[in-house]
Amino acid sequence: MFYTHILFGALLFLVAENYIHISLLQWAVIPLAAILPDIDTENSFISKRLPLIPLLFSGVKHRTLTHSLIGLTVATWLAFGVGYFTQHIEITLPFFIGYASHIFADMLNGAGVALFYPEKKRYRLLRIRTGSVSEMWFFISVLGGIVTLLFSV
Ligand SMILES: [Zn+2]
Repeated sequence: MFYTHILFGALLFLVAENYIHISLLQWAVIPLAAILPDIDTENSFISKRLPLIPLLFSGVKHRTLTHSLIGLTVATWLAFGVGYFTQHIEITLPFFIGYASHIFADMLNGAGVALFYPEKKRYRLLRIRTGSVSEMWFFISVLGGIVTLLFSV
């Protein structure tokens, strides 16, 4: 679910906050980047809100190109380009972390991701089903991590 991705991206960025100063703009980039890979499916939260962009990925199978290392790299370059031209190059790191966190979280699902696309092999770490009790426990664990980190500084 999209909120699990947002929360997981935020958790990873909170960990990074121990090492770097993070601006409000950088925090705003995390949720967008954390749900962006699902632009390859019309039923996703982001696709329903950006109705034209998913058409670009209409021929792309779900969890392949946008969920791969090459997808992560190209998307991060695009974020870097946007940051460069808007003079907010600092958005690149949170974008990378948010986007990568999505791919990692999807690897916890049984469907896995084509991490090395165009190779078709799917990679997975666990078999947590979307919307299951297991996902709820993952969500609660991530939430617990965030609360712990927020109150430990
Ligand atoms: Zn996904």
